[in-house]
Amino acid sequence: MIELEEAREFIFNHCSKLSIDEVEISKSRGLVLADTVISNDDVPPFPNTAMDGYAVRALDTEHAPVELKVTGTLPAGKVPDLKVGPDEAVRIMTGAVIPEGADAVVMVEKTKDVENGSSVIVEETVKNGNFIRQPGEDFVKGSELFNSGTLIGAAHIGVFATIGLEKVTVFKRPVVGVMSTGDELVQGSSQLKPGQIRDSNRHSIKALLEEIGAETIDLGLIPDDEKAIESALLSAVEKCDAVVTSGGVSMGDFDYVKVVLDRLGEMKWMQVAIKPAKPLAFGLLNGVPIFGLPGNPVSAMVSFELFMRPALLKMMGYEQIWRPCVKAKATTPLKRRKDGKVHFARVTLTRKEDSYEVTLLEGQGSHQLAAMANAQGLAVLPNGEGVEKGDFVEVLQLTEPEID
Ligand code: AMP
Ligand code: MG
Repeated sequence: MIELEEAREFIFNHCSKLSIDEVEISKSRGLVLADTVISNDDVPPFPNTAMDGYAVRALDTEHAPVELKVTGTLPAGKVPDLKVGPDEAVRIMTGAVIPEGADAVVMVEKTKDVENGSSVIVEETVKNGNFIRQPGEDFVKGSELFNSGTLIGAAHIGVFATIGLEKVTVFKRPVVGVMSTGDELVQGSSQLKPGQIRDSNRHSIKALLEEIGAETIDLGLIPDDEKAIESALLSAVEKCDAVVTSGGVSMGDFDYVKVVLDRLGEMKWMQVAIKPAKPLAFGLLNGVPIFGLPGNPVSAMVSFELFMRPALLKMMGYEQIWRPCVKAKATTPLKRRKDGKVHFARVTLTRKEDSYEVTLLEGQGSHQLAAMANAQGLAVLPNGEGVEKGDFVEVLQLTEPEID
């Protein structure tokens, strides 16, 4: 058995950043910038009002309340065709250009219309610049907005749109092929024949991949047949940036995935000192990383979490590739036996006012997927006897915790 860290190091060393691509900004969320984004405009581009109200000369409000003559109305999007002179005001709507002569805006709530709006009483004294958004206040033309390595979120996309950027340079979205292997597997709702089970791994792994923004290709169900596995893998690497298989990597007589990969690829078949997910095959086939995950449904998902998710995020250019980890207080004992492995127990995680609580779920077998579905985290139990109720344990967060 090799240690988790050693397996990870081997994998990460063989997963390099993906190539660079130009994508429409609407397709860029969750991808990582591969170039600096520079503003080609001042934002905002012109002085405009932050409030609905009246554009005035600040000086005229010095002895408020004062009555000013209203000379017109300026909606957003209109070029002002009037000036604000002494003792005058222009009705102005949020986002409209400040007209010449005005140097402040009085919010509508601090005014009173008189004579059907031909005049206005300004009730407060305002300073020069009041509620005026100056050009370049957000950022100026030529500024470096975001560097290569920035993870693109919704607000970044908003900024791209603001400066008129239609496409951005990113590390490409990975295309990942997903296959399940096993003669016992069937797809869909048909009646199971004796010995058959329904394939769950392809579906859960595809969903995990979609969660990190990968594009998936469904490579279907492959039988436990050396030739079939070989041809499925060889054709997969033609069109994928990474391939994930499940099943066929442990010690059974028909575990051909590791046999094929061993023969064809720059492959390492490992027994990792963890539970679940001890068996793992990883390597490059024509330069494409292949992740041979174990068949048991919980093992496949845990293996994805521990190896494939961080490896793919690294390929996508992420700087932060790890799930968040928290220390949580055990509300139940989390016992285990000493076996030289690190155990990852399916647990619920609850956030208290200023701490976390962790509870072991029923059904910890590597075939018991329901506990995985109900888990908010994986409690990390180093080799030893486990922890007692009340002890603290590290938990790898899979989803948001419950809030108490
Ligand atoms: P294997 O790693 O091929 O020896 O499979 C280990 C266990 O996981 C066996 O009980 C398989 O039937 C089961 N298994 C393998 N692949 C899948 C799958 N795609 N969906 C559900 N169970 C599976
Ligand atoms: Mg199998």
